[in-house]
Amino acid sequence: MENKITVKWSGEEYPITDIEENDTVLSLKNKIHKLTGVRPERQKLLNLKFKGKAAQDNDIISQLGLKQGFKLMMMGSREEDIAEVSQAPENMPEVINDLDIEEEEVEIEKAEIYLAKIQKRIETYKIEELSPLREGKKLLVLDIDYTLFDHRSVAESGIELMRPYLHEFLTSAYKNYDIVIWSATSMKWINEKMRLLGVTNNPNYKIAFHVDSLAMISVHTPKYGVVDVKPLGVIWGKYKQFSAKNTIMFDDIRRNFIMNPQSGLRIKAFKQAHLNRNTDRELLKLSKYLEAIAELDDFQVLNHRKWEEYRSMHKKCKKSKRTERTDPPSQT
Ligand code: MG
Repeated sequence: MENKITVKWSGEEYPITDIEENDTVLSLKNKIHKLTGVRPERQKLLNLKFKGKAAQDNDIISQLGLKQGFKLMMMGSREEDIAEVSQAPENMPEVINDLDIEEEEVEIEKAEIYLAKIQKRIETYKIEELSPLREGKKLLVLDIDYTLFDHRSVAESGIELMRPYLHEFLTSAYKNYDIVIWSATSMKWINEKMRLLGVTNNPNYKIAFHVDSLAMISVHTPKYGVVDVKPLGVIWGKYKQFSAKNTIMFDDIRRNFIMNPQSGLRIKAFKQAHLNRNTDRELLKLSKYLEAIAELDDFQVLNHRKWEEYRSMHKKCKKSKRTERTDPPSQT
């Protein structure tokens, strides 16, 4: 039988020409294994159907009614790629492109590799707690550069580059959230910047711990290639009280939360501190949002892309509740 199938996997095409009359799906998988290194049990053959259902291992290829030159879409990872988890820190580019990557652009076929990388970080990344975590608190994870601080502008002192209302914001957030700082730089710089901004040892709130670039992982996106991201799974793996249900992360680069898009809120970048210092009120507005959502049992119902709408809706609800009440509100 002269039937050619082209397997599409991980951006490459693998032609298979030696398919025999009685070959089963399993024997096709074995041929694919030889070409790609992906073991049969890890292969997901997406568009291989028999009578409208996913073809089974013992189905006969010649009975599937495939057209000449059929393109077979495969997902699956090689063993060595799953096991190979780099211990070495990924090189951090000095300038990080601000790419607005959509979550669906992550290749799902690589998911197992990423989960293995996250697992490795959970096991090897050491967290030094600066202050003890508190029971019943939610988790707020904050980026530094362009989120809390304009790190590119020149100024006499760090305070000039600080995003307005930073301390008010942290003081307010601390009521309901344990606060973690996660920056794509080295721990030395994080410590230095936090000290400079007067966050370290601030009497009004405490930071639970800092996380640096070594806890990040590289993921491959078809459009932009390899990018380094901040997977919340590393923190969730170490602190079981936290999950997507009670964690929110702020970053000015959306791709940083590509592994957990639902938990991320992309904050407007704070740049050109000198021009924007007097008008930027993002942190003030966001502290209200954090306060409003803190009463929820599960953050997974939220769409942080619409945080401003949520906030105004919440305000209206509160107002109408207040006017409905017959007794005067005890507090405003
Ligand atoms: Mg940033």
